[in-house]
Amino acid sequence: MTTLAELTTLGVGGPIKNFVAATSPEEIIAAVSQADEQGEDILIVGGGSNILAADTPFDGTVVHIANQGYAIEGGAACEIPSANSTQPVEAKTAACGGYTVTAQAGQNWDEFVAAMVKEQFVGLEALSGIPGTVGATPIQNVGAYGADVSQTIARVYTWDRQEKKKVSFSNEAMKFSYRDSIFKQSMMGSSPRYIVLSVDFQLEVGDLSAPVKYPELARSLGVEVGNRAAVDQVREQVLKLRASKGMVLNPEDRDTFSTGSFFTNPIVPEDFKLPADAPQYPVGDGYKKLSAAWLISHSGFEKGHGLPGPASLSTKHSLAITNRGSATAQDIVNIAEEVQKGVQKKFGIKLEAEPILINCSL
Ligand code: NAP
Repeated sequence: MTTLAELTTLGVGGPIKNFVAATSPEEIIAAVSQADEQGEDILIVGGGSNILAADTPFDGTVVHIANQGYAIEGGAACEIPSANSTQPVEAKTAACGGYTVTAQAGQNWDEFVAAMVKEQFVGLEALSGIPGTVGATPIQNVGAYGADVSQTIARVYTWDRQEKKKVSFSNEAMKFSYRDSIFKQSMMGSSPRYIVLSVDFQLEVGDLSAPVKYPELARSLGVEVGNRAAVDQVREQVLKLRASKGMVLNPEDRDTFSTGSFFTNPIVPEDFKLPADAPQYPVGDGYKKLSAAWLISHSGFEKGHGLPGPASLSTKHSLAITNRGSATAQDIVNIAEEVQKGVQKKFGIKLEAEPILINCSL
């Protein structure tokens, strides 16, 4: 019997009553519709990198989104910006030019990014090394190093479980914001109303990246913040930085048996008082974003807290909770609760879990 431990990067989770690997949009729709007609609980799994599932059996249907591949559908090349241009990357529309690339929802994300960088498409390079599948990226508007997928996704094709029909969304209709979209807002418990079948990206052609926004990345590339670098070098440096923090999946490295960031970066009112050395980034409308990792490490939780395990904070990043080999879901929850309570006590901020929690809670 397939278990959720086998399907998730954390490697925890109980056995599954009904498991379907769906390798085409039609198979996805058939599996989801059948489970819905039978009133079963549904869990959609792509790369399994954002799920913490309980050790108890999952008494429903798990649909593994396994449709692969992508197709470059032509278009006209956009103007290539000069090396020191700081012009921002804007949300793309079909009218902007560039190329439309349609990727299947089950396509491995990082293999897709690697292929697009090789094709000399611009816009995905800062999102290198992120685990999971293409179909998961619009749900929480996946982002890293100042880029997010809302900047390049033109259209998403879905199955609407409520209306029982195919629905597609334009970029604007997806209401993208920081790690959020209409898909996240319309979740039905822990399963989505809209099942992503495929995604259209609108990509410009060029050998220079989007402007580099994060100082750490700019430093490692040897460019000023706001300038551009070669697309393939940005990918290379992002992979190096992520790997140094245990954020690139590696079966040899227990620090990568995680859900990536376990907590989201809190957004608080601008006048929220914190020590002067706390990283704080304005996000507009009178709010600022804090670093969850900083809050954790300044609440007395060092990297590796909880070692030797069975669960601990990563030895490379205080924001990842890791399975050292034999952790149960409860072991992961215990560390998460300890950290959450510690940060609440020290700073009065309640950290929110980023992964989807299945039959367990903090
Ligand atoms: P970091 O550089 O130690 O910074 C801590 C946090 O501060 C980051 O999460 C980032 O927020 C924010 N930040 C840093 N510089 C910023 C700037 N110039 N403007 C706005 N916000 C800034 O972060 P890290 O943990 O090593 O991660 C670096 C990047 O990789 C981040 O973008 C992060 O999201 C991404 N990443 C994500 C995961 C994941 O599992 N989700 C894992 C590894 C890395 P943001 O997260 O909003 O960017």
